[in-house]
Amino acid sequence: MAHLEQRYPNLHVSSHPLVAHKLTLLRDKGTAPKQFRELVRELSWLIGYEAMADLTTRPMGVETPLEVMEGAELEPRVGLVPVLRAGLGMVDAMLELMPTSQVWHIGLYRDERTLKPVEYYNKLPDAATVQVCLILDPMLATGGSSAATVDILKAWGAARIKQVSLIAAPEGIATLSEAHPDVDIHVCAVDRALNDRGYIEPGLGDAGDRQFGTFAGPGSEPGHPSDETAEIVRRLQRTLAVD
Ligand code: URA
Repeated sequence: MAHLEQRYPNLHVSSHPLVAHKLTLLRDKGTAPKQFRELVRELSWLIGYEAMADLTTRPMGVETPLEVMEGAELEPRVGLVPVLRAGLGMVDAMLELMPTSQVWHIGLYRDERTLKPVEYYNKLPDAATVQVCLILDPMLATGGSSAATVDILKAWGAARIKQVSLIAAPEGIATLSEAHPDVDIHVCAVDRALNDRGYIEPGLGDAGDRQFGTFAGPGSEPGHPSDETAEIVRRLQRTLAVD
């Protein structure tokens, strides 16, 4: 994983012990949706706090009960862009950290066979209304949806874009970093690899299903590959190996 941080200077992996502790609880297959949602929220605070560390501030006067002093206020307007649906669980925590953030929804779904993002919802106004956009997705898997979201946000005029995730696969980091090296990626952990169904291993399973309690039976569980999906994952892995 250290080699990935050397190769991609835009990658920032948390080394905070609280993050490691809570992430372990999140991964546990016995963690039920209620606790899973709470942990997604707590981890989003922690990784969000780290991801915001370089935001600029401007001076702001404040009157304490004792005297007037110069404080600071966040300078950029911030937009939160959750990747539907799993990214929704990260929004409240980010709004608690930055209550004046705007939340913009861009609907992309991942075609289960090709793993390519397909846009189905986008109501962004003509010109960008924020300077910094945070793409929120607990799982940075193939990186396809994130790279496509960055394309949309750059065309919109967002000056700065960051990806904030809980777990990333090396393949997703490579895809996003090579398409958009200027996008900082903040994650709690980088896992071993994608499996042939596009799930991160060891990972935590399907972050959407685990938050929302929507398990559709054995066919929806990680580990049932289609030939096409498996081939796409192999292609991503070959690209990562030769670069
Ligand atoms: N999305 C998930 O929810 N989990 C993965 O492992 C990969 C993508």
